[in-house]
Amino acid sequence: MNPQKRREIFQRLHDANPNPTTELVFHSPFELLIAVLLSAQATDKGVNKATAKLFAVANTPQAILDLGLDQLMEYTRTIGLYQTKSKHIMQTCRLLLEKHGGEVPNTREALEELPGVGRKTANVVLNTAFGQPTMAVDTHIFRVANRMNLAPGKNVREVEDKLMRFVPKEFLLNAHHWLILHGRYTCKAQKPLCHECIVYDLCEYKGKTV
Ligand code: SF4
Repeated sequence: MNPQKRREIFQRLHDANPNPTTELVFHSPFELLIAVLLSAQATDKGVNKATAKLFAVANTPQAILDLGLDQLMEYTRTIGLYQTKSKHIMQTCRLLLEKHGGEVPNTREALEELPGVGRKTANVVLNTAFGQPTMAVDTHIFRVANRMNLAPGKNVREVEDKLMRFVPKEFLLNAHHWLILHGRYTCKAQKPLCHECIVYDLCEYKGKTV
């Protein structure tokens, strides 16, 4: 795909939704970190339902440690893999207090040291809590980038690196939100809604439908 097409794709995604953000509900970097930790293989809606109740009683590392693991799991039990995720949350809260004064760090290295936090989670927090231009490649972005030939790659890291290189600078901060939303609601996994796609003429997917 040539650079002009890429620019036009992001221009249209921007024009349709100038201020995109995550669909996870959060009010602080810590709440975002916990929500993202819970969100692997779970829907944002399901996470929001659980965190609405959890954050009402505990939305700081100390408060969650004070709750204890068993109580925490009462709030997270509707979410897939909640036992492992809850253990990671407890360990993460402990580390945040021990090493970061109870604050969420704003560097990749420090974030990736936290239990349960991988590259994708770090990218989401860096981007959405701290305004850094990172690309958190999830299943939607991976599919969309390959399908459209926007930034094709065999694995998520390859797609991430290409997007970081290819996305015009002015769109970099919001690019991952636009691509996730585009994949979630239009360029769906099973049946892409090509007939209502705002980048139909720019998409290079051979299987796109009229
Ligand atoms: S035209 Fe179809 S395949 Fe291409 S980006 Fe749009 S929805 Fe996806």
